[in-house]
Amino acid sequence: MSVGTVEQRYETVVGLEVHVELATRSKMFCSCPTDFGAPPNTQVCPVCLGLPGALPVPNARAIEYALRAALALGCEIDRECRWDRKNYHYPDLPKGYQITQYARPLARHGTLRYAGGDGERSVRIRRLHMEEDTGKSTHEGMPGGTTGVDLNRAGVPLIEIVSEPDIRGPEDARLYLQSLRTVLLYTRVSDVKMEEGSLRCDANVSLRPVGTQAYGALVEVKNMNSFRSVQRALEYEVHRQAAALDAGERIVRETRHWDEKRGVTFPSRSKEEAHDYRYFPEPDLGPCALTEAYVEQVRASLPEAPGARQARYERLGLPAHDAGVLVADPALALYFDRMLAGGAAPREGASLLTVELLGRLNALGVTVGESGCRVQPEQLAALQELVASGVISGKIAKDVLDEMVAGGADPQAVVARRGLQQISDDGAIVDAVRSAIAVNPQSVADFRAGKKQALGFLVGQVMKATKGKANPAKVNEILARELG
Ligand code: ADP
Ligand code: MG
Ligand code: ZN
Repeated sequence: MSVGTVEQRYETVVGLEVHVELATRSKMFCSCPTDFGAPPNTQVCPVCLGLPGALPVPNARAIEYALRAALALGCEIDRECRWDRKNYHYPDLPKGYQITQYARPLARHGTLRYAGGDGERSVRIRRLHMEEDTGKSTHEGMPGGTTGVDLNRAGVPLIEIVSEPDIRGPEDARLYLQSLRTVLLYTRVSDVKMEEGSLRCDANVSLRPVGTQAYGALVEVKNMNSFRSVQRALEYEVHRQAAALDAGERIVRETRHWDEKRGVTFPSRSKEEAHDYRYFPEPDLGPCALTEAYVEQVRASLPEAPGARQARYERLGLPAHDAGVLVADPALALYFDRMLAGGAAPREGASLLTVELLGRLNALGVTVGESGCRVQPEQLAALQELVASGVISGKIAKDVLDEMVAGGADPQAVVARRGLQQISDDGAIVDAVRSAIAVNPQSVADFRAGKKQALGFLVGQVMKATKGKANPAKVNEILARELG
């Protein structure tokens, strides 16, 4: 017997294990380049191939990047963290082991706060450690039925970020992951693209009857390649597990793969399951020795976190949604900050940026912060000030912006050259209003008969006659007076 929806009967418990590729130029323990898309096995050396006698040397930049991420997530840092060997056999792992951190990870006890489906969420980060990536197996372009191994990726620096099982459902998992991505984007340690594999996520999921505390047996789901597929895979898994529990079955701890096309998860023997990793301390590497001064220097170099930025924008009067649009993209947020420094009014400036400028840039296939964007934030701020001070109307501002986007011109120069200053002079507007009244007797009659739309038509005629330069507030005021 099952009464109520799955969500009413079971609470979903999720913990995510996220791998992030660090955007260093060289690998974790050797100086091989990390460039993506090079011909197979051209970026390898005795160290990342694990040839006998080759010694690993930690990449200081990779450690700095990992530390930036850990600090951005509010973690406690182990300044003497250690390296371990994780042993297993797999074709993409020529050394037979991966160098990782086991007992003494770089960081623990962090927190990720984000806006959940219904209210503020806070998920504990259990640990963040450094490790090296494996190679890749490929079937593409290989002679019938054989598998190729490309070791260019072997040894690329990774961090793994493990959450506590504090996530409470498929949508919550997606929101956690997206907000983790934003935090990492601000640290500039990775391009964090799920589709390209620089952000990878394994999801652990279990159900428990609503109102109970004990965790159920977890299933680990792998192979999701987008935020959307993480949510879909977990939705599928929640319903699969609920049906099994309803039928009186027990959930067994297992690893399952998400099949994007069929929209199902299926059990898979993973390389992890088959083995005991036999972790042991990496004999070729000593502990990290991070000084407190170094950690504090890295902490001080971090940019304002997205949560703090969101709050700051909201205090400036931006609606939460608009602030969120800016914060979600660091390049956009930095652009907006420069507009503010250039004197732009927050609300109007934000809409000029996200609606008007981005709309035009999208059509060109560029975004702010790229060389294709010829409008500097200070220039967009100046355009907003021209509107605010009544020199041009909001409508004319759009024409000026077209020219700025196309030619990188200063707004003041465009306005002066094309004589676009708004007409606020009463005399000129009165003339235009009187002639509009004279040539449109039918509209005047309609207005007097109570048809409010007729006034809009007359305003339009005046704007047309003044080539859009008349101050619209003045036009309305004078029209009302002349008709009254
Ligand atoms: P380990 O893999 O080191 O044995 P766990 O299996 O406890 O550690 O944790 C691995 C991941 O699974 C973590 O992200 C954790 O939050 C998550 N997790 C642990 N227990 C559960 C559970 N019952 N349901 C969902 N996720 C869980
Ligand atoms: Mg695990
Ligand atoms: Zn190498």
